[in-house]
Amino acid sequence: MGRTTTKHVPLRRCVVCRASKPQAEMLRFTRDGDVVRLDLARRLGGRGTWVCRDCASGDDEKRLRQAFKGQAQQVMELLAEALAAHPHGGTGAGTNENNGGMNVR
Ligand SMILES: [Zn+2]
Repeated sequence: MGRTTTKHVPLRRCVVCRASKPQAEMLRFTRDGDVVRLDLARRLGGRGTWVCRDCASGDDEKRLRQAFKGQAQQVMELLAEALAAHPHGGTGAGTNENNGGMNVR
């Protein structure tokens, strides 16, 4: 408290809900041909696709399928693994609104 550090927080857009959020709240996927990888360390090369934790921990399969198409099944399996490995997902208390609310700045 008291000290404002102006630290640049890079925002990424979730492909599922299209909200822009800090990287820390997102999971990164990369695609290698037909293989989808979950890039927890955010170090893999290539084009990243981002999914926020809200969407990752939600069970909105339909939206995931729309976002990932043929890779949706792989993505869902990777998400299930990731959530099992990191159970502290920081899911909020039931708010499902993704408009307004959090303006970063
Ligand atoms: Zn999302």
